[in-house]
Amino acid sequence: MSSLWSFVSCAVLVMFAFLAWIPLGVAQRTAKSQPHVVVIGVNGMELDVIRPLLLQGKMPNLSSVIKKGSYGKLRTLSAPNCPRVYSTLFTSTTPEEHGVTGFVVGGITANTNMLKEEPIWSVLSKKGVSVGMANVPATFPVMPVNGYMISGMLTRGKNCEDGILCAPKLSEVQGGDAVYPAAMKAELLKNVGDFYIDCERMPSAADLKGHEAEAIDGWLKKIQLIRDQQTQLFEYLLDSHPMEFTWLGQSCEDRTGHWLYPIAPYNAGYNPKINAVRTEAFPDQYVAFDKVLGVVLKHVDDNTYVIIVSDHGIKPLREFEETDPHAHLDHEKTTPVVAKHDFADGDDVPGSFFAMGPGIKHDLRLMGFQASVYDIAPTILHIYGIEQPVQMRGHVLTEIFEGSDSKVAQK
Ligand SMILES: [Zn+2]
Repeated sequence: MSSLWSFVSCAVLVMFAFLAWIPLGVAQRTAKSQPHVVVIGVNGMELDVIRPLLLQGKMPNLSSVIKKGSYGKLRTLSAPNCPRVYSTLFTSTTPEEHGVTGFVVGGITANTNMLKEEPIWSVLSKKGVSVGMANVPATFPVMPVNGYMISGMLTRGKNCEDGILCAPKLSEVQGGDAVYPAAMKAELLKNVGDFYIDCERMPSAADLKGHEAEAIDGWLKKIQLIRDQQTQLFEYLLDSHPMEFTWLGQSCEDRTGHWLYPIAPYNAGYNPKINAVRTEAFPDQYVAFDKVLGVVLKHVDDNTYVIIVSDHGIKPLREFEETDPHAHLDHEKTTPVVAKHDFADGDDVPGSFFAMGPGIKHDLRLMGFQASVYDIAPTILHIYGIEQPVQMRGHVLTEIFEGSDSKVAQK
C-alpha cells in the first residue's frame, strides 16, 4: 500500500502543481455541486468537563449542534496522542499502517512525509471536491490539495525547532511549507497578519517555581491571543475561500488540561500553588472554543454538514502511572502534568463527535462505543457519495442518518 500511496501522492503532486493560486477559484466553479462539510477538530475534548458546562448553558453553540444533530463518544486508539490519532482520522487505518505512530517516529518529529496511507484530503481532491484545511494537527509540511492547506500542530519553526507543542508564527516557519499553495502565504500575512500556527508550549517546572500565578496568567493570555488569531484566520478563509470540504483545528484545550485540569487534592500530582490558582482555566478553554464554534456556525447554512470531532479525552493521572510504558510520552519535558491521555487503554479517554446537517438525525446520542476514530473518514466520504477505499478500516456511521433504524442508537 505504501508504494501505491507514494505513487498516488506523486501523481497528485504533479496534478496540483498546475493548480496555482489563481485556478483555485476555477476549480470551485467547474466542480459539480457537492455537499458542504465543515469539520472542526478539537484536540482533547473532555466530556467530563464539557457536560457540566452544557448544563450551565456556557456552551450554547455546542448545545445547538447537539439539539440539531447526533453525537457520542468516539472510541480512540491505545495510548492516544494527537498525531497518532489524527493520522487515523485522516486515513481510517492503524498507526502501524499509516506510519505516524506518535509525536516522534524513528527519532524524527512526525510529519506528512511519513504517511503511508492516503489521507482523506487526497481522496476528496482527486474526486473534484474543493478542500480547505487550517491548523489541523499533523499536516506539516502541507500537501497539495484541490484548494488550500495551512498546517497546524507539529509545524516547525523559530523557537520551535522540534515542532512539538510549540507556536511558530507563520513568518517563522522553517523546514517545510506551512501553506499550500505557496502564494497564499503572502495573502494571509497581508489580510490576517502574522498568526501563530499552533498553541503555545506549556511553561516548564522551572518557569513556574515561585511565580506560579503570574506564569499561569501570562500563558493563558498568550493562548487566548493565539485562539483569537486562529478565529480571525478561520473567518477570513470561510469568507474569502469557501470550500466544499473544510477542516479547521483547535489545540489549546488539551494543552491547558494537561497541567491545569481542575483536579481535587486527592488526585496524584496535586500542587495547590498551581492547581488551586485558576481552577476555571481548563473549563474556560471549552467556553472559548464554543465562541470559535459560534463564529464558524455563522458561516454555514442549513445545507452544510458540521462535524466536531475530538481525537481523545483527557483525564487526571491514574493507577500504574509509574510502570506504564506510555507514561508521559506525549508531553514529557514540559511542566509536570496532572492529567493526560496516552493511557495504554484508550477507552479510558474516549474522543467525541458531534454532527449535524441534511439527513442527520436530531437529538440522537450514540451509546457505548458505536463510533470510533476509524469511522470519521468513511462517514465524510459517504456524505460525498464516494466509496470507501478498501484499506479504510472504519465504517460509515449509518446510525446517525435518517432512514436507518438502529435500535441501539436511540436516546
Ligand atoms: Zn495532549
